[in-house]
Amino acid sequence: MAITAPRGTQDFLPEQTAEWQLLERKIRQICSLYGFGEIRTPLFESTELFLRGIGETTDVVTKEMYTFNDRGGRSMTLRPENTASVVRAFLEHKLYGDPQVHKFYYMGPMFRHDRPQAGRYRQFNQFGVEEIGSRDPAVDAEIIAMAFQLFRELGLTDLDLHLNSVGCPKCRPVYRQKLIEFYADKKDMLCDDCKARLDKNPLRVLDCKEEGCKQASVGVPELTDNLCDDCRDHFTKVQQYLTAVGIPFTLDPRLVRGLDYYTNTAFEIMYAPLGAQSTVCGGGRYDGLIEEVGGPSTPGIGFAIGMERLLLTLKEQGLLPPPQRKRPVFIVALGDAAKTAAFTIQQQLREKGIYAEIDLMGRSMKGQMKSANKLEADYTVIIGEDELAGGQVQVRDMNTKEQLSIPMNGIIEYMETHKKG
Ligand code: ATP
Ligand code: MG
Repeated sequence: MAITAPRGTQDFLPEQTAEWQLLERKIRQICSLYGFGEIRTPLFESTELFLRGIGETTDVVTKEMYTFNDRGGRSMTLRPENTASVVRAFLEHKLYGDPQVHKFYYMGPMFRHDRPQAGRYRQFNQFGVEEIGSRDPAVDAEIIAMAFQLFRELGLTDLDLHLNSVGCPKCRPVYRQKLIEFYADKKDMLCDDCKARLDKNPLRVLDCKEEGCKQASVGVPELTDNLCDDCRDHFTKVQQYLTAVGIPFTLDPRLVRGLDYYTNTAFEIMYAPLGAQSTVCGGGRYDGLIEEVGGPSTPGIGFAIGMERLLLTLKEQGLLPPPQRKRPVFIVALGDAAKTAAFTIQQQLREKGIYAEIDLMGRSMKGQMKSANKLEADYTVIIGEDELAGGQVQVRDMNTKEQLSIPMNGIIEYMETHKKG
């Protein structure tokens, strides 16, 4: 049986990686405009980090992690997301000793044992940011504005921002209790997952997609009506900043991240035509996370964008320009001595930063000219036996079809002055 790529993974061939590179370039541009520096953390970490950093009741931890014992018997996990690793690195390098806002961005593969379908893979890529060290609501608005600028500059406009506040460890427990009481006589309607997590994590029932749970949630008290003064003030300011810079949003009181270390702002950015996999970006504030992972209490906020979903969206909207192919100088050579001369010229051109190619398939003169056309060469250099003996080469401009004879030792200079791009 032929060996194939594992289910839920993909190969990207050069034509597709050109699209990835375009997206990555755009992302790096935006990150530098907003003052974010790149961070690269390992692709696997101690399992313990994700248990604490994502939460033991989440789907990611209970159902989706790639966990294995290494040869030393330690439990390791392929990272399902990058926030926990960034926080670990932040602590390991004692960056909290420098009181300022620390801005990180990352791009790279994440691993989740999800059910593969369009827009859902087992190895997928995220671009994300983490801004650590400030509680200022301007930070929340800044990263949302950043995601929006990225989408806008890529040409995407039909995006919905859903915004909520999940409160803080002061006001949330009161709300939690209200929820537990609210669902107490509706337990039978809930799905098994929600029944099990009702006591530990009742907020998760709010965003459960099961029909029974949706029914049970009709008339549920809203989180945003139960915020403490600080949280309400924070939420109001985030909205004011977003309005000031013209970013539209929909308040969505059912949008939750149910764990204790999530605080205040939670948001998602959706592109509806993607259907079930419509969330392109998810983010939120996590003022309690760093303490949870073992550091000094430090506020933070971040988002993650699914890059495959973003590329799918761009493709769907016809926003991916056809890749620009670089046009080579193609050196046609006949005979062994000419081939050596062609190889030498090719190398000299490349060392001057000029893209050059020769025939590597033993083709005839006619075949080599065909290759030159196929590669869309803008110049062809022809070295035959006669040319070689006379120290001359033929140069053909493939656009104008003009041909002229020049000394072989002048070819590099000729291309340096004539070849564009
Ligand atoms: P979903 O509800 O679609 O499973 P999620 O809540 O698990 O998403 P997050 O953990 O918030 O997703 O990750 C941020 C983003 O990463 C998502 O909005 C999505 O764009 C992308 N993403 C998450 N899981 C996958 C996956 N299995 N394949 C491709 N992209 C993914
Ligand atoms: Mg998921």
